[in-house]
Amino acid sequence: MITFDFDYYRPDTIEEAINVYKKITGQEKKAIYYAGGTEIVSMSRVNQLSFDSVIDIKAIPECNVIETKDDKLIIGSAVCLTRICDFGGYPLLGAVCRRIAEHTARDMITLGGNILGKIQYKEAILPLLLTDSKVTVAGTAGKSEKPIDRIFNEKPLLNAGELLVNIIIDKKYINNPYSHSKKTKQEKIDYPLVTIASVKNDDEIRIGFSGLCVYPFRLDIIFGNIDNTNPESEINNILNRVPAPIVNDILGSAEYREFVTRNLLIDLFNYYGGMN
Ligand SMILES: Cc1cc2nc3c(=O)[nH]c(=O)nc-3n(C[C@H](O)[C@H](O)[C@H](O)COP(=O)(O)OP(=O)(O)OC[C@H]3O[C@@H](n4cnc5c(N)ncnc54)[C@H](O)[C@@H]3O)c2cc1C
Repeated sequence: MITFDFDYYRPDTIEEAINVYKKITGQEKKAIYYAGGTEIVSMSRVNQLSFDSVIDIKAIPECNVIETKDDKLIIGSAVCLTRICDFGGYPLLGAVCRRIAEHTARDMITLGGNILGKIQYKEAILPLLLTDSKVTVAGTAGKSEKPIDRIFNEKPLLNAGELLVNIIIDKKYINNPYSHSKKTKQEKIDYPLVTIASVKNDDEIRIGFSGLCVYPFRLDIIFGNIDNTNPESEINNILNRVPAPIVNDILGSAEYREFVTRNLLIDLFNYYGGMN
């Protein structure tokens, strides 16, 4: 149960959503955008989050589309993970989303919510980081398109009141060779110890990691430069580039996470035909 009262708004347009946000915050009240609501509801229930109003964005058509336009695949921020899996237009994104939560939760969790929520894993962002995706953001100054790392870099970077409208993926990447592997502590459905997603783009392998550090990140390597005679040192080189300390928590120690990551990287290189 949520123990405080709040107002519920369900705007039909982006402009209406931005104006409602402005109006509420202008009255010194707190408003938040509401997508799948799974994180908002669970945090509110335990008094880790409070607000005066929620602005449900699911009736906004631009936040709900999955469409291809010219050479782009456009996915609305309020599209739930189940729809992305069923759509199948971006196989790597489908594979990653299929391993997030269980089916009932995936019916609610949205792509935008996964990227902008508080939970550190944000697995669905990996295929978007690997393909240099862009996003449309709306605010009081109107709409603008920007690279995804302008709204997420170690943490969500949207300004107060800004709405993530959609994610724009360049179709040139989506049929590239890819791999995805998620390792959990015990159950198949759980937060990741480590998730690795990768895309091969010409001679480059782009690798996205979730669970290894407290935020998801991408590392690129040139496949042709890999010394197949010395896999140990190649893996060490990659691990030396990890941008933050390896997580050490109840799911797994830092040492165990590193061990799992080493094995996943060896599998990854074997998959692409190296380090045999
Ligand atoms: C049972 C369960 C299992 C899970 N397992 C995993 C897992 O294995 N891996 C993983 O990565 N995650 C997992 N999650 C986490 C989940 O992906 C996040 O909690 C995510 O935030 C939920 O999305 P939502 O649409 O319900 O977000 P909401 O609860 O609607 O919103 C979350 C936050 O994002 C903001 N927000 C949402 N959409 C927008 C937007 N378009 N513009 C601006 N702000 C926005 C909201 O204001 C809020 O602050 C799990 C969650 C549950 C409930």
